Amino acid sequence: MDSAEELRRARELVTGAGHIVAMTGAGVSTDSGIPDFRGPNGVWTKNPGAERMSNLSAYVGSRQVREEVWQARVRHPGWAARPNAAHHALAELERSGRLAAIVTQNIDGLHQRAGSAPERVVELHGTMFDTVCLGCGDRRDMREALDRVAAGETDPPCLLCGGILKSATISFGQALDAKVLHRAKEHAQACDLMLVAGSSLTVHPAAGLVGLAASAGATVVVCNASETPYDDQAAAVLRGPLGEVLPALV
Ligand code: NAD
Repeated sequence: MDSAEELRRARELVTGAGHIVAMTGAGVSTDSGIPDFRGPNGVWTKNPGAERMSNLSAYVGSRQVREEVWQARVRHPGWAARPNAAHHALAELERSGRLAAIVTQNIDGLHQRAGSAPERVVELHGTMFDTVCLGCGDRRDMREALDRVAAGETDPPCLLCGGILKSATISFGQALDAKVLHRAKEHAQACDLMLVAGSSLTVHPAAGLVGLAASAGATVVVCNASETPYDDQAAAVLRGPLGEVLPALV
């Protein structure tokens, strides 16, 4: 756990803020059994070769990559995951009336399942619960594609146009939805405190929202087990496990 002094300071800042925006990453969901990418048990830490599965040009250019991605999607721990104490703490902060939004890089829907209002959750990197056709844009429930994979289609094409089907998530090399990014920027500029939780803050433009909030005058509190490039802009940095830190903060 963090030094009592640092925790006390962070708590004072959170308690004194009236318009908090949380910026969350994969670290809030590790206690729910979904590994992050870059933490000690991260998917890429253990298997650097897995990075290509999150790359748009590799996905579009290789049927083999798509087949691997569909197999991984079927087995994704997110289907069975349940929200943990970190998600519940943020939902609690929202009920107190001071958390205006959660801008999340996560695709697992666990904030909403913990009780955070869906309209207050900005999913910067999309959701694993839908598919989208890269050709015609047709959007559907992921269940349908997973059923097709289970029935033997190793790379199910779009049922409307035959195009490449993909989860409705943002891969590296893929642009974020402009409207979603715009909303996230508005939240970053409007908050008086940005609470970062469980992100290495290395993926852009998501990470840049922290700098945007800071330059608009917000106080930044970083809760993350390892260092981030924004720690020196933070008024408090907590390294303890999020399942303890976030409940203690709120
Ligand atoms: P990241 O893997 O780069 O960083 C996660 C950070 O969380 C690490 O620095 C790690 O030290 C910290 N962390 C992990 N567990 C923690 C815990 N219990 N307590 C405190 N700190 C903890 O993740 P990122 O910054 O979110 O960026 C990775 C990208 O991967 C994002 O684009 C995201 O969309 C995607 N992703 C999402 C999920 C998910 O939806 N759950 C899972 C993996 C990756």
